[in-house]
Amino acid sequence: PRSDDLTVKSTKTYLIECLIKDFELRPNVLDLLEHVFIRQITGRAKILQKQLMELIDLNQQIVIAGKHERIHTKKGGQIMSSPTHDEVDDLATLEVLDEVMDSILLQRRYSKDQIYTYVGDILIAVNPFHKMELYGPQYTKMYIGAKRTAYPPHIFAVADVAYQSMVSYNADQCIVISGESGAGKTESAHLLVQQLTVLGKANNRSLQEKILLVNNLVEAFGNACTAINNNSSRFGKYLEINFTCGGTVVGAKISEYLLEKSRVIHQAIGEKNFHIFYYIYAGLAERKKLAHYKLSDSKPPKYLLNEHIRLGPDIVNNTFYKEQYDVVEQCFKVIGFTLEELGSVYSTLAAILNSGDIDFSSVTSEHQTDKSNISNIAVLENAASLLCIRPDELQEALTSHCVVARGETIVRPNTVEKAMEVRDAMGKALYGRLFSWIVNRINTLLREDDNGLNIGILDIFGFENFKRNSFEQLCINIANEQIQFYFNQHIFAWEQDEYVNEEVDARVIEYEDNRPLLDLFLQKPMGMLSLLDEESRFPQATDQTLVEKFEDNLKSKNFWRPKRVDLGFGIHHYAGKVIYNTAGFLSKNRDTLPADIVLLLRSSENSLIRKLVTHPLTKTGKNASLLATNRKRVFLMINGGKNKSAIILFSVELFFSVSAPQQYSLMDLLSKMVAGQPHFVRCIKPNNDRQANKFDREKVLVQLRYTGVLETAKIRRQGYSHRILYANFVNRYYMLAFPVHEEPLGSPETCAAILVKAKLENWVLGKTKVFLKYYHVEHLNLMVRQTT
Ligand code: ADP
Ligand code: MG
Repeated sequence: PRSDDLTVKSTKTYLIECLIKDFELRPNVLDLLEHVFIRQITGRAKILQKQLMELIDLNQQIVIAGKHERIHTKKGGQIMSSPTHDEVDDLATLEVLDEVMDSILLQRRYSKDQIYTYVGDILIAVNPFHKMELYGPQYTKMYIGAKRTAYPPHIFAVADVAYQSMVSYNADQCIVISGESGAGKTESAHLLVQQLTVLGKANNRSLQEKILLVNNLVEAFGNACTAINNNSSRFGKYLEINFTCGGTVVGAKISEYLLEKSRVIHQAIGEKNFHIFYYIYAGLAERKKLAHYKLSDSKPPKYLLNEHIRLGPDIVNNTFYKEQYDVVEQCFKVIGFTLEELGSVYSTLAAILNSGDIDFSSVTSEHQTDKSNISNIAVLENAASLLCIRPDELQEALTSHCVVARGETIVRPNTVEKAMEVRDAMGKALYGRLFSWIVNRINTLLREDDNGLNIGILDIFGFENFKRNSFEQLCINIANEQIQFYFNQHIFAWEQDEYVNEEVDARVIEYEDNRPLLDLFLQKPMGMLSLLDEESRFPQATDQTLVEKFEDNLKSKNFWRPKRVDLGFGIHHYAGKVIYNTAGFLSKNRDTLPADIVLLLRSSENSLIRKLVTHPLTKTGKNASLLATNRKRVFLMINGGKNKSAIILFSVELFFSVSAPQQYSLMDLLSKMVAGQPHFVRCIKPNNDRQANKFDREKVLVQLRYTGVLETAKIRRQGYSHRILYANFVNRYYMLAFPVHEEPLGSPETCAAILVKAKLENWVLGKTKVFLKYYHVEHLNLMVRQTT
């Protein structure tokens, strides 16, 4: 048909009808068709015709594949260099690659509940949003030591590869899980831990049990219900499972990164506080212990009552919360916390809740303006008693502060606003430190020693873009920016370096390098975080002066000031454009706990409370030594893998410079990751409604695009995922071309002879290695099995 005679829609309909009639088109090809039309609809008939012919080819291939299952490499003896589109487990093996096609394939697999797909050695996991029968003991068994292609892609297979590599190469491994909030990272992390503890045959069951409980416990304190995920991780988590060199599990260690403490005192519309607060409130009510912790069952504490959701009376009766309280208490006990410690944890939480209810009123006298007074002394007394401090001293520390001027200490009153700030700062600090203390305590209870090997699992909060984005979102997104950079380095930069080193002529893959964004945030002295630190040191600075400072100093096409948004600035992240609002940035970054409060809490009769403020952030000490370790590691690495050392040097340079404390701990994580062999799991969220069986292709496409899945597939396909030293290659495959008793030279010529005999094409010989594609290795291994 002449396309210009027809409207877009009728052209499509007409052609589809023809295809269905003439070529027995299978419905799943309609998807492909649609995408061709969307792209070619500008309607030049020739292109259309060419596309059509391709489609018809493709259709026939699919029909054939459907009729003859044996065509697949797995089942029968016939081998195709590349599978057809109908049954693709690995996007990197496709002949035709583009994002739309990828998303269609994912969709088709998803509709058959095949939520996992490989892109080369990377696993894509599409959140099913419903319970899957995929994780039972039979699956656990099936994937142990299995060949990658033997069974459908699975998260257990990733655990297995990491475990086997750790044991066979005697090297640490790390598994990096990424994806936006609600994409399934935390679930994936759980499944990995589950499989790894089985693989590591923890010889005492109780250790295995403890490791599995760690996640539950830490998540009760670090996760919360947000607008997009009912169990959203509000901190970054790196869980290392320790093994002996023989591969037996001996312990675990957890590192936390950047807990979103502000949630304790305030939650956005439709969001809640950290789970644990609701659990203890309901759980203690059930056990009639609320009064003991100075809480009332008729009037829930304000910190639990987000003004926007009418939770109120429901909390005490919520059976889920009550059950979770039991679960958490059980976790504490099994992991090894004492009853006394447990009691102190509850007291601290109850003290935070009580302190949140302290109200202030303003007193104006002739001489002094804006003094503040406590208007509900009983509540203050409750908080003080839970903290085991004197109520009058707490009152003083909240409503006044000391200044030292010319050698004299002067007491100045706090305004109501200031007093509320101090109160909230105390709540946040206590919670943050309690969290760190719990994490450290778990580590002492679960750690054997530093020797041996480990597999780390990184589950970091995903990229966030809300209607209103504040400092928390900025920190989260910067962390994701760094993870993305690490991914790019690993997948693209290092692989291409190897081609150059080996003088192999492989096509260079273009990828979106987000280095300029890292510079924008982390550079010194003109990066955003440095500017923020600098501005935080000026007492007169305001959130307005801050945003102006950004505007004046940040010269990047990824930064802009949107018109008509007060205090707003925009960042074009690798994952999309986000508008931030600097309101509260300065105080959140300063995050100071007044000295008066620290001193007061140090006088507490409760040893846990004292610990929380005496070793302020046990982490600081830990980090200091970690910095040293990291430095050491840098030098070690320089002598080791060439390409890897470059990245460590780079990240150290980058992160050393930033003074904000949280940067240190991300550096710590990244350097650990760089030191281990990485494995990637990319979680994809198929829709925004948390609905099962709903695949929003546009949404998936966007995620595939910004995570570079297509480029990854390309480099895995065009690139040579297997690079084997000549001698090793000959050793392994010579029997395919030479008599078994012969010992041919480990030379390029021998390699070529073997490959030609195996009828393989498109391989390349480098300076020291044979460069092979996936299907080459699969084919060779199959042949070896058939000959032996
Ligand atoms: P993220 O950590 O990426 O924010 P989560 O891992 O918390 O996301 O997943 C969000 C929700 O999606 C979970 O609470 C669960 O309901 C669902 N989900 C994720 N992965 C799976 C899975 N493999 N099977 C079933 N449900 C899942
Ligand atoms: Mg999570």
